[in-house]
Amino acid sequence: MTHRHHGGGRLLIRMRDQGFTLIELLVVISIIAVMVALLLPALGAARDSAKGTQCATNLKQIGIGLMQYTHDYDGYFIVAYDGTNPWYSGDVNQSYFARNYLQMRGVAEPRGVRDPGNILDCPMNDDGYVNLPPNNYHMDYAWNAELGGLIGLGGEYLQSERVRGLSRIVTFVEIWDDFWVSSTSNYWSIATTYPHHDSGYFLFADGHVAAGRQGDMSDSNFLP
Ligand SMILES: [Zn+2]
Repeated sequence: MTHRHHGGGRLLIRMRDQGFTLIELLVVISIIAVMVALLLPALGAARDSAKGTQCATNLKQIGIGLMQYTHDYDGYFIVAYDGTNPWYSGDVNQSYFARNYLQMRGVAEPRGVRDPGNILDCPMNDDGYVNLPPNNYHMDYAWNAELGGLIGLGGEYLQSERVRGLSRIVTFVEIWDDFWVSSTSNYWSIATTYPHHDSGYFLFADGHVAAGRQGDMSDSNFLP
């Protein structure tokens, strides 16, 4: 007869000392640091993507205002300059688009300071604005002066129905330092900027908005 005896065995697993060792803490901190480093670029890309969406939405809204404007004015585009006021200024004539018309139609409320909520402000374009005394007016988008001419400087009024291929013609572009562009001396390409990772947004005469890179556009996109 055998008798197994189990008594006297030792408790092999014993309670550990409470808390983490220094090495363990350093490992945890290192892992968190690596995770943050991996996440930050993704967060930045998401933020830039949202800014691009905001910019495209701005132009879309401006396009809606522009369509309402041409409808109200017998099909005529806004004019870049009416002999007295540029398109963003003025009060009662065809060059008051940004100053009064967008606001009147509830499309936008242009204000005199740099304002992230303003549809004339691209959240990624830190260069393109015009501060004009006395209103300190600010904007990141320029009007294609080929569509609504420089009246008094040789330009003409133009009706949208006279333009062929509205989906090809650019109306507003992102700019770095001016308030209208033209095909004269390739000026549109000089003034255009591409703040969205080498890409910029363009509003076309049919109301659609598209991103483009340098070289994607030509004079034919600006000449009606
Ligand atoms: Zn933009």
